[in-house]
Amino acid sequence: VSGDAASAAPDSASRAAGSRVPVSIARCPSYDLAEVDRALAEAFELAGGLEVSGASVLVKPNMLNAAAPARAITTHPALLSSLVRLLKARGAARIVVGDSAGIPSLESASRKTGLRAAAEEAGASWTELDRPTRVDYPAGKRVRSFEFGAAFAEADLLVSLAKLKTHRLVYFTGAIKNLLGLVPGLGKSAFHLRFPDPVDFGEMLVDLAAAAKPAFSVMDAVLAMEGPGPSAGRPKELGLVMASRDPAALDWSCASLVGYDPWRIPYLADALSRGVWVSRPDQIEILGESLESARPRTFALVPRHGETDFFRRWMPGFFHSAFRDILVPRPFFDEAACALCGACVEICPPKALRIERAGNGGGRILIDRSACIRCYCCDEVCPRNAIRLRRGFPSR
Ligand code: SF4
Ligand code: SF4
Repeated sequence: VSGDAASAAPDSASRAAGSRVPVSIARCPSYDLAEVDRALAEAFELAGGLEVSGASVLVKPNMLNAAAPARAITTHPALLSSLVRLLKARGAARIVVGDSAGIPSLESASRKTGLRAAAEEAGASWTELDRPTRVDYPAGKRVRSFEFGAAFAEADLLVSLAKLKTHRLVYFTGAIKNLLGLVPGLGKSAFHLRFPDPVDFGEMLVDLAAAAKPAFSVMDAVLAMEGPGPSAGRPKELGLVMASRDPAALDWSCASLVGYDPWRIPYLADALSRGVWVSRPDQIEILGESLESARPRTFALVPRHGETDFFRRWMPGFFHSAFRDILVPRPFFDEAACALCGACVEICPPKALRIERAGNGGGRILIDRSACIRCYCCDEVCPRNAIRLRRGFPSR
């Protein structure tokens, strides 16, 4: 993304002492297009808007897998349609919508989620984030050079159009985590292999978002996901559209809204420590609805794993690994629900899964538990909700 995006993204200089970082909250009771248009316009303006006149804009929705919009796994097409039309009305020269699905193919995911049709009907072009292009980030803590799809480098501005969801590995997914989809294909799961510890993985996510420099972020919180997200959770009506020019401030506010202590979400705490975006929660200025008035009465969070910073920081490697083995849930496969589609086998970073075929045409998934790194990529892509995460006896 060219210098326009860099200048549009908040930086430490723009947050001089006393300056505020706006995060907007607008009510949006349904995905009715008129409601969404009104709520998005309100959230966009309150958050300070974005100068897009003459610019080429890449919009990155969350398209985790081939799921219908009602399941709340992916950004809703109505919000994408509304955002494309809003950017066009403000003079964007070109709007490209793209993602890089892991499994299954982008083609089937773009159809089933309704995202491709929404983008094209609203006047944007659709692209797959393929053709890896190197993007350097010398200040990275874990990664200093990424490969993003070529459409990223061809755009002037990047907008993260995220979905508010729980996440079994990193607890919460929003504007920052959504940007992992800039990495083409199975390059995403390679990061899990490289950073099996969720804290390290989270630091990589923050490096990645800082390298991507999103100029603006919008959160689809009309129908969010609670429980065991990001794909096996339950849809939860929040009736909100939220936005900010600062992805860390937006994610922090959303995580807090649903009941998390964001300081206990390692990658959000890390994001605030970087000096790239907002650095203290008291710098965030909530505009529109207040957090208190928008907060749901109940929201099922992902419980913290036994894996805590305490074990990670203070235990020698062997003990840390033994505790992790006992305390961190691992996947079990429900044979009755499994369709043997092979998506989990294909995405598993350490190749710990295989299909054992039976003579009658059936079969089952076998797991090498000692190889499993508990990344839960299998759970994210399973179309049948056939994977249960449970603690178990040590595997080693
Ligand atoms: S089995 Fe699932 S949780 Fe374990 S490494 Fe493979 S994808 Fe990750
Ligand atoms: S567990 Fe899910 S992803 Fe894996 S083969 Fe069965 S249905 Fe497919």
